[in-house]
Amino acid sequence: MNPILNKLKISLPEGVISFSPEDLERCSHDKYIGASNPPQAVAFPSDTQQIATILQFANTHQIPVTPRGAGVGYCGGATPVRNGIVLSLERMNQILEISSEDFIVITQPGVITAQLQAEVEKKGLFYPPDPAGRAESSIGGNISTNAGGPRCLKYGVTRDYILGLTVVLADGTICYLGGRTHKNKTGFDLCRFFVGAEGMLGIVTEAILKLIPLPPFRACLSAGFLSMTDAAKAIRSVFRSGLLPSAMELADKFTLQAAWKRTGSDIFKDSGAHLILELDGQEQSVCAEILQAHEHLLRAGARSLQIARGNNECENIWAIRREFSYGLRDTGLKKINHDIVIPRGKLEEYFEFTDSLQQKYGIPIACFGHAGDGNIHTNIMIKPDNQQQTEISRELTQAIFQQVLNWGGKITGEHGIGLSKLPWWELATTPEERLLHQRIKKALDPQNILNPGKFIQND
Ligand SMILES: Cc1cc2nc3c(=O)[nH]c(=O)nc-3n(C[C@H](O)[C@H](O)[C@H](O)COP(=O)(O)OP(=O)(O)OC[C@H]3O[C@@H](n4cnc5c(N)ncnc54)[C@H](O)[C@@H]3O)c2cc1C
Repeated sequence: MNPILNKLKISLPEGVISFSPEDLERCSHDKYIGASNPPQAVAFPSDTQQIATILQFANTHQIPVTPRGAGVGYCGGATPVRNGIVLSLERMNQILEISSEDFIVITQPGVITAQLQAEVEKKGLFYPPDPAGRAESSIGGNISTNAGGPRCLKYGVTRDYILGLTVVLADGTICYLGGRTHKNKTGFDLCRFFVGAEGMLGIVTEAILKLIPLPPFRACLSAGFLSMTDAAKAIRSVFRSGLLPSAMELADKFTLQAAWKRTGSDIFKDSGAHLILELDGQEQSVCAEILQAHEHLLRAGARSLQIARGNNECENIWAIRREFSYGLRDTGLKKINHDIVIPRGKLEEYFEFTDSLQQKYGIPIACFGHAGDGNIHTNIMIKPDNQQQTEISRELTQAIFQQVLNWGGKITGEHGIGLSKLPWWELATTPEERLLHQRIKKALDPQNILNPGKFIQND
């Protein structure tokens, strides 16, 4: 046991600091299979003050601190590469207030996203950001990765719902930023510094989130297409029609086959691509608009179409979508998972490009995801422990990222940089952007104790 960390343990209530091998192992990685490293201790604080005490201590002794939400990030963001303390927010899991008058929820960071959504929906309120892993992810993790999801097409991503944050800085200073109003132009928008910061600028210990009225009705279309490029053309024609669906999600044949195997469903067995389109709002208008969308998709070449009306029928359609990631994992192949984002107008070219790479290299590239946003989960599927395919996967990643950047896209739309995209950080940013990141980091965390070893190299 590290004597300095033991001193911290004694200064806090019983059970806050753990050295148990099970806790150290569990908190040594997230869902990114490429990296695991054990911390020396795991802290399980239950309030903001305890976090301030831990950070003051860590800052004084220059001990690395890596925050952790639910640990279901996809890029190694919560992996403590420099050992030290993992600061787990899992015990701070209370919803503190839901206000139907002010349309806000005040929550601790360890609350699971789907639980928060279910609680506000009981009051007729709506928190739209819906990462597909929401049954497991935490609100603090969503804020720190600026998580997106299918509904973000219409409603925006996590950052669009942050009204206020309580943040503990590296030296233990507690900052109360923003508030419960839906507008605020008092100084800089300081909350934004911490949204998507991947735990490198401060610890989010409380959040005030914006809510909107829960749309009373939804309907879905599930459409089969010959190819991904045909489906991408159909998405363009839906936008041209003036409709704004809440979600438009696309999956290719490889992804569908994996999901069929996992779920036993054989929806659109003969299709080369599958599009889910959802509309929400008042029942009468949704029912009229879903028929319009049906008409557009038919004209755009859909080979098979199903309409679902109301929650239960829609959820049946979404059930298969939520299994895409798990279905690919079940194939036994190693899934090198990217979440590139391209300008919307480049979708068709992107699918032609990944098709050509598959043909050239003979390795499947499974594409699915938030096509309406141009945010495509691009999974290079290689044989595990196959050195040659591992090397090819790096070449493929490089080719995909370079092409995406050439088109004005970005190498990550929602998962973050973490460790998985660290080798491409320089390729993806300008020197001026990197310098600005470094200056901000230096101002807020001069000793570089918060999540060190990630994309800001200040040491
Ligand atoms: C099946 C599946 C589907 C997914 N689908 C999506 C999707 O559709 N959209 C999407 O955006 N993501 C998706 N993800 C990725 C994942 O759900 C998100 O990245 C999510 O936001 C991670 O939340 P978490 O609580 O697990 O965070 P963690 O993995 O624990 O942490 C993520 C990062 O945030 C930091 N952090 C965590 N909590 C705090 C805090 N309180 N203060 C400061 N820093 C903190 C960590 O240090 C780390 O850098 C999916 C994951 C899975 C497994």
